[in-house]
Amino acid sequence: MAEFKQSHKLHNVLYDIRGPLLDHAQRMEAAGHRILKLNIGNPAPFGFEAPEAILVDMMRHLPKAQGYSDSRGIFSARTAVVQYYQGRGINNIDVDDVYLGNGVSELITLSLQALLNNGDEILVPAPDYPLWTASVSLAGGTAVHYLCDESEHWWPDVEDLASKITDRTKGIVLINPNNPTGAVYPEHVVKAIVDLARKHGLIIFSDEIYEKILYDDAVHVNSASLTGDDVLCLTFSGLSKAYRIAGYRSGWMAISGPKRDAADYIEGINLLANMRLCANVPAQHAIQTALGGYQSINDLILPGGRLRAQRDKAHQMLNDIPGVSCELAQGALYLFPRLDPEVYPIKDDEQFALDLLKQQKILISVGTAFNWVRPDHFRMVTLPNVEDIEDAMTRLAEFLGSYKP
Ligand code: PLP
Repeated sequence: MAEFKQSHKLHNVLYDIRGPLLDHAQRMEAAGHRILKLNIGNPAPFGFEAPEAILVDMMRHLPKAQGYSDSRGIFSARTAVVQYYQGRGINNIDVDDVYLGNGVSELITLSLQALLNNGDEILVPAPDYPLWTASVSLAGGTAVHYLCDESEHWWPDVEDLASKITDRTKGIVLINPNNPTGAVYPEHVVKAIVDLARKHGLIIFSDEIYEKILYDDAVHVNSASLTGDDVLCLTFSGLSKAYRIAGYRSGWMAISGPKRDAADYIEGINLLANMRLCANVPAQHAIQTALGGYQSINDLILPGGRLRAQRDKAHQMLNDIPGVSCELAQGALYLFPRLDPEVYPIKDDEQFALDLLKQQKILISVGTAFNWVRPDHFRMVTLPNVEDIEDAMTRLAEFLGSYKP
């Protein structure tokens, strides 16, 4: 019999958020166990519903959304994206600079496939949302990780980033607000990174999918508001998180900056966009309504809001566990706590998470899956209701109380 093997192109590609741990949890569920899933940032299963206006608008457009659209996406949605950025003081994005995708995920891989040659380097944060590292590797590039500093609110360590720029570096990825840390970068940090990109002729890839999920006094700075006309910036955002429709797959990418110098790259992007024909058309119709409608996410993140209450509860209960410390997330849907290695000398965080899953039926994501080098962090989502968070944190504390790695 012929043996069929995966492509060599996948040898360096890792995406462990949906890896063996999840498979194990699914087997346990199939055997009748109830698993508390703190592993994936998918709002809908936790009872978060999309704004009604979005659903109504999509349903109304469904009969008219049977054909392929323009490969960049429908005009009305791309215009809404342009207007959205104009409202944020970004005036150098035109309708044809906006690409709609089946979620931001598709556009991340597309933008890197169109750019990278073997050995080209992209600076990616550590920890990161691992699709970035995986997509760089899949495109033949090398992800070079710059540190985000836990002792400085998990902001990027700009010196470390600068020291990793080489003549092979093509761009810098910023994830702001950040998954997995919840950090929101102040203007001076974004500016310092944009200045480096300007100095070295690099592209900024700015993943801003959580830009509307902000807590306390956090203010989000769009990278494109600082890159101006001389730094090429690709901004990514979409409806999966703030509008809670991850399953409909709706996101966008907006190109700003010196587009004439990037004409060849943009031609490559257009080729790949044409090859996948277009994004899911019914979900494209959600964009205009979402951006122009009532911003119901605010009800969830302001004081008294569900997301904020859940973040506060999880943060407080984590920090009450001996040997566990956790920065307060300023945005997004996650916490990235540290397990003090003196107290918990974990060698293999995958095994740690598996033991937790088997003993307490809680599913977390391990820190190393986010390209964090040491096995001393994990990520949990703050999406479950407060009672479930209390339950999960109580079980975690019990588990850690007797844990012997
Ligand atoms: N970027 C970040 C930072 C994310 O956390 C996620 C999803 O979790 C994505 C992109 C992908 O989102 P989408 O559903 O738009 O593909």
